Amino acid sequence: MRIPSVWFPLSVTLQNPPQWILTKNITMICPFCNKKAIWCENKEIYGRNYGKSYMIYLCKPCDSYVGCHNNTKNPLGTMANRETREFRKKAHSVFDKLWNNKKERKLAYLKISNQLGYEVHIGCSNITQCEDIIKYAETRINNTNQKGEYYVNNS
Ligand SMILES: [Zn+2]
Repeated sequence: MRIPSVWFPLSVTLQNPPQWILTKNITMICPFCNKKAIWCENKEIYGRNYGKSYMIYLCKPCDSYVGCHNNTKNPLGTMANRETREFRKKAHSVFDKLWNNKKERKLAYLKISNQLGYEVHIGCSNITQCEDIIKYAETRINNTNQKGEYYVNNS
């Protein structure tokens, strides 16, 4: 089906893609065994489906998985095994202390990305990257007294 361009200008496609464009097939390879992951419901790991968006990519032998945006085939990040998930959780718990609102969060990610030399997404980070994020955030927290103070007053 051809979509008339008046319904679907290019700028909208790039910045805010509608759901149906995200349903294209993606082959997801497990980073731990290099085998193809399956796209399935998250009841495969939890016993019942959790959340509105319950589709995941899963590699059962590695216990590695990642969720998807709104049940599309678009992954939220990269697949993580148990150890990686724990490091990502820790990274979030420390890094999220650096910001109080959306604006500060954006700035905090810009600053850490600038510092580490790549675009930081905790959901895409491996263990080494998580360790770097944790180290960075802990240093920042030790340099400020109040949550978010550094970003509010010095940016
Ligand atoms: Zn695997």
